[in-house]
Amino acid sequence: MISQLLLDWFSVHRRELPWRDTSDPYKIWVSEIILQQTRIAQGISYYFRFIERFPDVKSLAVANEDEVLKYWQGLGYYSRARNLHASAQTIVNDFNGEFPSDFKQIKSLKGVGDYTAAAIASIAFKLPYAVVDGNVYRVLSRLFEINTPIDSVQGKKEFFELAQELIDKRTPDLYNQAMMDLGAMVCLPSTPLCMDCPLQSLCQSYHNGSYAEYPVKEKKIKQRDRYFVYLFLHHQEKIYLHRRSEKDIWAGLYEFPLIELNAPLWEEDFSILLKMLGKEFSIAEIKKVTAMPNHVLSHQIIHSFFIDAVGTIPSPSSAKYITVSEDDLANYAIPRLIELYLDRK
Ligand code: SF4
Repeated sequence: MISQLLLDWFSVHRRELPWRDTSDPYKIWVSEIILQQTRIAQGISYYFRFIERFPDVKSLAVANEDEVLKYWQGLGYYSRARNLHASAQTIVNDFNGEFPSDFKQIKSLKGVGDYTAAAIASIAFKLPYAVVDGNVYRVLSRLFEINTPIDSVQGKKEFFELAQELIDKRTPDLYNQAMMDLGAMVCLPSTPLCMDCPLQSLCQSYHNGSYAEYPVKEKKIKQRDRYFVYLFLHHQEKIYLHRRSEKDIWAGLYEFPLIELNAPLWEEDFSILLKMLGKEFSIAEIKKVTAMPNHVLSHQIIHSFFIDAVGTIPSPSSAKYITVSEDDLANYAIPRLIELYLDRK
């Protein structure tokens, strides 16, 4: 299912890149090494110049290292060029000048890791090895809401196994390129274009509004503090509810009218808070204020309190809310934080 959706999307939206017109492992190898630390836009002109001067393994193997480095000038990370050069000589000496078509042999070349070996093996030789890079970690972690850190030993193993399970064994070349393109063009790091995504209907983080929390990293987990003030507002036996629709935590769940503050604004500033509330809500009586313990999510800490009050929401703000009886609340999906409040109020 996933692979078919991806392949259909790729057949229409694929990026046209010079190394995609070929199944020559040498050219694919050169392009992958260039792209290891270089953006595509910058890498394309280098690729053309390099391939023009060194069109095959043999021409690279017999070249002088200084000249190879010259052709690399400006790209940085020169060990890449030295490794290319040394590996070209290995191919000539140990593999009779034929680019190896076995995954382990490809990976034995200097400067070739799992990702590059999988890219060459799948694209040039149609071998079913899944590529796993930053783009793939991002897509898979969002798709399945995987909380295992991608920079942990367990995470690397889990993602690798999952990617390997998902790869289309009939067309691993197209599947891998489709996954790379999806990560690079649609499932973008900070603002994924979910509306254009062929996997949207299957994506758990899209449905839960949690894409910003993925992928999880062990070393850089920064928990963001958020400050919520909920208004448990009664009007004639009914309470107000609002459905969270934005791409945020708890998207699609129901909650009480909420004011989110940029910083804590607790007891000592309560009059300021009341003024803020007065702009949107008409509060007749405050019955109780309940401070909740910190609610800890994987990437956020919610500091909150609830104001139990009597009042109404005048239009036009009222259009955002529905009113339900307190007994009917059980029919609405609500965040755990609100459940905890209802239990303790
Ligand atoms: Fe990424 Fe959005 Fe697609 Fe999910 S729906 S895989 S978050 S682009």
